[in-house]
Amino acid sequence: MKEINASEFETEVLQGGKVVLDFYSTECPPCEALAPKFENLSRLYGNDIKFFKIFRQQNRELADKLGVKSSPTLLFFDNGKEVADRLSGGIKRSDIICHLDSMIPVERVKAIKSQIKPAVTEFDVIILGAGPAGLTAGLYLCQAKINTVMVDIALPGGHVSTTHEVSNYPGFIEPQAGYMLSHNMSEQTKLCGSVYKVAVDVTRVDLEKKEVVIDEYETLKAKRIIIATGTSPNLTGAPGEMELKGKGISYCATCDAKYFVDKEVVVIGGGNSAVEESDFIAKFASKITMVHQFDKLTANKKAQEKLLANPKIKVLYEHEPRSFVKEGNQVISEIENLKTKERIKLVSDGVFIFIGFKPNIDLFKEKLELDQWGYIKTDEDMRTSIPGVYAVGDVISKKYRQITTAVADGTIAAISIAKELD
Ligand SMILES: Cc1cc2nc3c(=O)[nH]c(=O)nc-3n(C[C@H](O)[C@H](O)[C@H](O)COP(=O)(O)OP(=O)(O)OC[C@H]3O[C@@H](n4cnc5c(N)ncnc54)[C@H](O)[C@@H]3O)c2cc1C
Repeated sequence: MKEINASEFETEVLQGGKVVLDFYSTECPPCEALAPKFENLSRLYGNDIKFFKIFRQQNRELADKLGVKSSPTLLFFDNGKEVADRLSGGIKRSDIICHLDSMIPVERVKAIKSQIKPAVTEFDVIILGAGPAGLTAGLYLCQAKINTVMVDIALPGGHVSTTHEVSNYPGFIEPQAGYMLSHNMSEQTKLCGSVYKVAVDVTRVDLEKKEVVIDEYETLKAKRIIIATGTSPNLTGAPGEMELKGKGISYCATCDAKYFVDKEVVVIGGGNSAVEESDFIAKFASKITMVHQFDKLTANKKAQEKLLANPKIKVLYEHEPRSFVKEGNQVISEIENLKTKERIKLVSDGVFIFIGFKPNIDLFKEKLELDQWGYIKTDEDMRTSIPGVYAVGDVISKKYRQITTAVADGTIAAISIAKELD
């Protein structure tokens, strides 16, 4: 692996045969998450593909010329031509491998794969999930000098990082941008000294043995595990939804509302998330049609009043989606009136779905005691039914799911574990 600058781009990259080039920046958490993966893969693939890093802030002109807009961005070249899609953001090892494999012969891929040696690393505590609950547990454990690893399939932050504004987290007079609040939480825990393994594939979890396998080759072992994997948005299950996910259907207003300036949007849902996020989408869109299954909204009263006073927003009560189809740039949502069974078609530029959440427990649910909705049961110290395994935050069975309740759970679990391990 070699660091280059813009003046070497022509000789090293364009005339360099097979090359992967990492545009990185400083003070960039996703770049920090990528660095060890990039270095590890350069050792494996280095005889076949050249690995270069280029500091984006000092080579801005080249970055602009190549259309590199964020750090990190990985570009792949073969004989001076860019090949394969670019990778950016929270880049997974498996995605890089997939790109690298496509650049070299199958026999070489097999030979390289045979060199991958399993690695085992031991910690006191593994925390699965780096949202507010996991990050808070990580902070307390780290401050108690307990060797802790934070594992996340994405970048740290959880739901907060995609919430446009948080106005009810104590300690801030003004509403805080969600991504800044989660960034600060993550940096605080990282600065304390917790180990981060983020944007990884979690391939196996053995709660009884306290082992977690990431990226298929690295086994993490610990004395305790904290599950802080939060929730994922529910799907409507209507035909066309999966196919249009990310191509007209979105589950994140903060991420995608900006693409709907002066456009028409359909929102499915009528609870707190749907109402608050519709209010946010209305800053961009010209018209919003909300489709809600009940005869009244179920969000808090203040949010409802604000929504209903917005002339851009109309609510279709007692309706449910039955299918989604894309025609050109538009999405056709077929909607059924639950009373009359009559179906109508809503034509829009995009659809947002906010119909609740389900706990992220697929990898390890078999042996855990769950409530009737599939959330993990815990005692007052956040212990689950498996000895040495704790669960915190939105993934557990509880009444109220907020940032404050998640950080409280994380605190309790960490203090309990610190006492046990003392
Ligand atoms: C749109 C929206 C707006 C909200 N607004 C507010 C608000 O204004 N105020 C408020 O207090 N609350 C708000 N909430 C609720 C709040 O965000 C959650 O209560 C809080 O984020 C829960 O924290 P958590 O750490 O339990 O889970 P999450 O934030 O969901 O984090 C879970 C983490 O686990 C990771 N993960 C998932 N599966 C795995 C796996 N198998 N292995 C490893 N990692 C995994 C995820 O990538 C994620 O980073 C909002 C939620 C949403 C969706």
